[in-house]
Amino acid sequence: MDCVFCKIANKEIKSNVVFESEKLLAFLDVNPQAPVHILIVPKKHIAGLNEIETADRELLCDIQLAARDIAKKQNISKTGYRLVANSGPDAGQAVGHLHYHLLGGRKFGWPPG
Ligand code: 5GP
Ligand code: ZN
Repeated sequence: MDCVFCKIANKEIKSNVVFESEKLLAFLDVNPQAPVHILIVPKKHIAGLNEIETADRELLCDIQLAARDIAKKQNISKTGYRLVANSGPDAGQAVGHLHYHLLGGRKFGWPPG
């Protein structure tokens, strides 16, 4: 399948990996929007939040546990961070493979633009 995050997950495309498990990969965003900007993706292809299934519940939980651990390693646990999944055109989802942005290291505005 012609999916950039599938290719990153199976190492066809190079990325800077910060965390890897059997089912997940986390790597630096190529166009960082904050001092810490990491993408956490399932290795299996899920197009986005609309396509998650009940059977994915453990995988989805593992993403949050990974985010917690990565945030700690990146020293942003205490200062704060955001975990964001964009879904669809209004949210600006550009890549059709489920991914969670872990952003930190600066102050963010609310509501998001
Ligand atoms: P979205 O807008 O879909 O929520 O986020 C897609 C993100 O993927 C963007 O922040 C973009 O910079 C990042 N991205 C797109 N292509 C690549 C790539 O080939 N490598 C990496 N590391 N990040 C990518
Ligand atoms: Zn994919």
